[in-house]
This record gives sequence, structure tokens and C-alpha cells, in this order.
Amino acid sequence: MMCYICAKEGQFDSDAVAVCTICGMGTCMNHTIRKDIDVWEGGYPFPAKKLPKKMPRMFCPDCSAAFGKGK
Ligand SMILES: [Zn+2]
Ligand SMILES: [Zn+2]
Repeated sequence: MMCYICAKEGQFDSDAVAVCTICGMGTCMNHTIRKDIDVWEGGYPFPAKKLPKKMPRMFCPDCSAAFGKGK
């Protein structure tokens, strides 16, 4: 798989090293943003319980910007 963003910019030689957790696009090392996200247990309609550990997630720049919080 190629990096989607590099391919969009006309560079077709960057291999994707990660897949965005949200939109699923492949991103190269330069375009992958790693965030540590709080983990919540349970789902609708049950109340969520926050787990003590954070989970690393990989995001593309677009989803990272949309997600906002964290660094
Ligand atoms: Zn790239
Ligand atoms: Zn994304």
C-alpha cells in the first residue's frame, strides 16, 4: 500500500507504514500521527468506564486535526 497523502501529492514511491484508525487511509512515516487515546470500556447504552491505560492510535493528518485533542 502507498501513502495516500504522498500519492495525492504526486509521489508514488512512499510505502505506507500505518493505517489511520478512523478513515483507514495508509500513511507513510512522515504523514502518520500517533496519539495516545484514553480507553473507554463498555458501549451504548451502557455507561462507559475509563480504563487506567492509554492506547496508542495512528491517525492521518486530516483525522488528527479533526480529532483535535492531545499531541
Ligand atoms: Zn506520505
Ligand atoms: Zn484518517
